[in-house]
Amino acid sequence: MSLTGPYDPDNIFAKILRGEVPAVTVWQDKHVLAFMDVFPQSEGHVLVISKTSQARNLLEVEPRDLARVTAAVQRTARAVERALSPEGISVMQLNGQAGGQTVFHLHFHIIPRWADRPVKGHGHAPMAELETLQALAERIAAALD
Ligand code: 5GP
Repeated sequence: MSLTGPYDPDNIFAKILRGEVPAVTVWQDKHVLAFMDVFPQSEGHVLVISKTSQARNLLEVEPRDLARVTAAVQRTARAVERALSPEGISVMQLNGQAGGQTVFHLHFHIIPRWADRPVKGHGHAPMAELETLQALAERIAAALD
């Protein structure tokens, strides 16, 4: 997938938004959804997406939708910090296949970091247990402003 082209309404995040594929929600409102990455690169890896925008990447998104998503990223990252006490947080956002993007619905990764725990490679992390993700999501949600 290049940086330009049509939005695929059958991408996995579109299916999650339509309720066709399950996801472990951290929080949502009418504009955004924060949910656990099912192949977490570290404990507490959260994804944040727009519910309304059909932008595939950062280049396509309307500024108003981007503002909502980035505000949601900050709110979620703050909750991750309070809930899990990471030493650092990596916020990652990939564009185009050559940029490492694998799901073509704009999203931001929130990846908690600890100095003594190597982060798993993007696209190389094993699938997490649902119960583990659910417990993490509840801890993060409980720490939201
Ligand atoms: P990208 O490679 O596009 O930046 O990131 C896509 C992310 O979506 C990856 O980190 C991947 O683990 C995650 N992912 C892929 N399929 C699913 C899924 O079905 N459910 C959830 N929750 N995450 C997914």
